[in-house]
Amino acid sequence: MVLPVVAIVGRPNVGKSTLFNRIINERLAIVEDEPGVTRDRNYAPAEWMGHKFDLIDTGGITWEDGRIEEEIRAQAEIAIEEADVIVMLTSVVNGVTDLDERVAQLLYKTKKPVILAVNKADNPEQRANIYDFYSLGLGDPIPVSGSHGTGIGDLLDEIIAKFPEEKDNKSDDTISFSVIGRPNVGKSSIVNKLLGENRVIVANEEGTTRDAIDTPFTDDEGDKFRLIDTAGIRRRGKVYEKTEKYSVMRALSAIERSDVVCLVLDASTGIREQDKRVAGYAHEAGRGIIIVVNKWDMPKKNSGSAKDFEQVIRQEFQYLDYAPILFVSAKTGQRLDQIPKMVKRVNKNQTQRIQSSVLNDLLFEASKLVPTPMIKGKRLRVYYMTQVATNPPTFVVFVNDPELMHFSYERFLINQLRDNFDFTGTPIKVIARKRK
Ligand code: GDP
Ligand code: GDP
Repeated sequence: MVLPVVAIVGRPNVGKSTLFNRIINERLAIVEDEPGVTRDRNYAPAEWMGHKFDLIDTGGITWEDGRIEEEIRAQAEIAIEEADVIVMLTSVVNGVTDLDERVAQLLYKTKKPVILAVNKADNPEQRANIYDFYSLGLGDPIPVSGSHGTGIGDLLDEIIAKFPEEKDNKSDDTISFSVIGRPNVGKSSIVNKLLGENRVIVANEEGTTRDAIDTPFTDDEGDKFRLIDTAGIRRRGKVYEKTEKYSVMRALSAIERSDVVCLVLDASTGIREQDKRVAGYAHEAGRGIIIVVNKWDMPKKNSGSAKDFEQVIRQEFQYLDYAPILFVSAKTGQRLDQIPKMVKRVNKNQTQRIQSSVLNDLLFEASKLVPTPMIKGKRLRVYYMTQVATNPPTFVVFVNDPELMHFSYERFLINQLRDNFDFTGTPIKVIARKRK
């Protein structure tokens, strides 16, 4: 689940966002429908030749009073910290500029692979005109044209060749999870407590000395976890962290890379607008979700009993009805041990596969409970159901006419699945398809 991260860095106007969109669209051409997913445009999943990765356009992360010099420094900082492969983008139209040199200098500091790409090389003449860029000292420049799409394949080939082996397409039995939430709810306190009480694996194999931002650990049952670090948890005080956009991007990035997301709420303040926004991201991403109510040691004037607070949560986050709720205190340590336990359970649920024969028994029983919907005199006929994916569990129901699959019937089928199997903590998707 942990994917390599690629960052595009460069002075303004070289074509970073154009290239970013181009690379994402190469992927969109391969991966079909992902309905209604809104994403921050500066961060997106991408894929090339079966290699999945996350792409960051650092140029989109700016702040109001930012001077170019400071902005560029922040971008390079983000790339060095976040990325496994950094693409420095320049433009053949202007040749090598002072700002290009400044960016290159900042990137000399990292041991991470940096690939130099020269954009706006729209025609053969321009493509031949890239030798000046050797002076940046970042190796062979690769000519590309973000707007025409030429050279992008060569660039992507270079990028995937530089992926660290342990992240490239490697699936193992480690469960990735993250702790997200608005500032001050207690994320760092929870993370530090969790890592204090479990066995943190120190990576000392060759090639893993890179600035690790995720922490692997094992619990007392020997199960393996990877705690995905979110903005500001263990690296406070960096210049870029004051940008709202960056912290949102960082949360999105953490969610994307997690199997399970722990959404932390603060019992002492109750639910705020920002909590709902963060919850919305997690829900849309289709990840497993656990709601963690922290500071349960404090006077509960806003929340009353656990039961009362649970009611408020269910009311405010209706779409998260599948998420279990844990009441914890990072201060006293109360019930913190439930977090890894619940993460394991949710991960088991989101990765389970249910046999088609069992699903069809369920369909048959369901048909006896509730008649299928009828629209304009035409009745929905449900033939069979099969699970097509895990994480999140996705089921395809073959029917006579998908138009007749009413929302309420879909909901009913999802509830039947939940009643018959443990899907605690994971969303479920049901897709109606016409039987051929
Ligand atoms: P950013 O500031 O680095 O993100 O740059 P943008 O992606 O916003 O692009 C800056 C300008 O360069 C825009 O007017 C783009 O249309 C243009 N541009 C981007 N890529 C190319 C390219 O490959 N060829 C040409 N000729 N123009 C490009
Ligand atoms: P973050 O911004 O979400 O990472 O939050 P922090 O972990 O920095 O916590 C914010 C503040 O809440 C700090 O002053 C913590 O000491 C306090 N805090 C965190 N967890 C608890 C808790 O369970 N109970 C109490 N009473 N205070 C807590």
